Amino acid sequence: MTAADDLDTITERWTALEEAAGTRPTTTWPPAMGISRLMSEEEQAEAAAERADTAPDAPGPRPTPVNVTVLDVMTTIETGLVTTADWLAERVQRPALTWATGRGWSDDVHRQAVLLSTKDSADPRRWRFTGQRSAPVAAEWLALRLRAAPGPFRTLDEGERQAVENVARMGAELLRRTLGDARRREPVPHPCPLPCGGQLVIEGGDGEAPIVRCEDCGRTWTEAADGAA
Ligand SMILES: [Zn+2]
Repeated sequence: MTAADDLDTITERWTALEEAAGTRPTTTWPPAMGISRLMSEEEQAEAAAERADTAPDAPGPRPTPVNVTVLDVMTTIETGLVTTADWLAERVQRPALTWATGRGWSDDVHRQAVLLSTKDSADPRRWRFTGQRSAPVAAEWLALRLRAAPGPFRTLDEGERQAVENVARMGAELLRRTLGDARRREPVPHPCPLPCGGQLVIEGGDGEAPIVRCEDCGRTWTEAADGAA
């Protein structure tokens, strides 16, 4: 896996980190997928009633306490990426075109020159030193620099490449470790629909696709598969 892939991982799984931190209370846990199909109508009505009672063990969305450990990890990753992007942009990003004016140009040429420098400085490929400076934005920008994507930049030298790679590796490693720990397992209140009738558990909550697994026969169900078929 290249350092650019590591950066892609950070961009793609940042939302999962936010969810694990509890700063994005959108996740339904356990996920409705599969389970609802495994539950009888009666059980579903029961589950809905429990939710209405806000029983602490009721399935369905409920407020998650903010996880300070995950927040710390997010700050570490974000600071590393944004600081590195600032540092790299100072070195490899060509300053926006500027034109000395009043050299006897016609109004028309002058207008065109101004237009050109405005366009150049507004180039969306540029790293911004103000405004939107989040981890996923920085990770995406750094990945493009490692891949030598076109834009107002010179090619990275070996030292610059190495510095970005180090930050990418550390960030992705931290993210994987944190989300790995965040993967949760909970029993499903329904026996395996196969003859074994074993205990079902659901695993997820770390940004990867949730999976229902029978602890006895080992059969698994995912969102992609069509229920217990
Ligand atoms: Zn089973």
